[in-house]
Amino acid sequence: MNALRAIGGILKGMSVTFREMFRPTIVENYPDGPGPYRGARFEPRFRGLHVLQRDENGLEKCVACFLCAAACPSNCIYIEAAENTAEHRISGAERYASAYNIDYNRCIFCGYCVEACPTDAITHGHGFELATFNASNLVYRKEQLLAPVPAGARLNPEQLRAHAPEMSLQA
Ligand code: SF4
Ligand code: SF4
Repeated sequence: MNALRAIGGILKGMSVTFREMFRPTIVENYPDGPGPYRGARFEPRFRGLHVLQRDENGLEKCVACFLCAAACPSNCIYIEAAENTAEHRISGAERYASAYNIDYNRCIFCGYCVEACPTDAITHGHGFELATFNASNLVYRKEQLLAPVPAGARLNPEQLRAHAPEMSLQA
């Protein structure tokens, strides 16, 4: 009796497999699809790699207040603060983050840093291709996290020089 039941179960399972063989395959065309995520699609609230945002003038929104680092349960955000000057302006406030690292070896993508930020400077993007054979590659620096300077931003030449390392003007 048990043997019959087992055979019946196998036949039932195989019938599902056999039926699916003749149905069209529905998959996301990753990684050969179009767009920045190569065919992968995300829900709007997907929490991927962080993005450090800029304002409409291209200045960094981060004012180096350290609230995100304080809120982070994994202690994976490292920030160094520096003062803006008239000649060297990076953000719209008194201070800016001269260094901003996130260690993705430890990040659990909880979003607490995003919620804690008073200037909406840090957000979750949709980047997800983090896999690497070298753990040190998972420490992302500010230059890797910064959003591109928006088209039409009016940075003066000195600001452009200050932003040069991560400069990537949008078309
Ligand atoms: S998502 Fe969570 S764990 Fe990751 S940096 Fe932000 S607060 Fe820390
Ligand atoms: S990202 Fe936001 S919370 Fe974190 S230091 Fe910058 S302004 Fe403060």
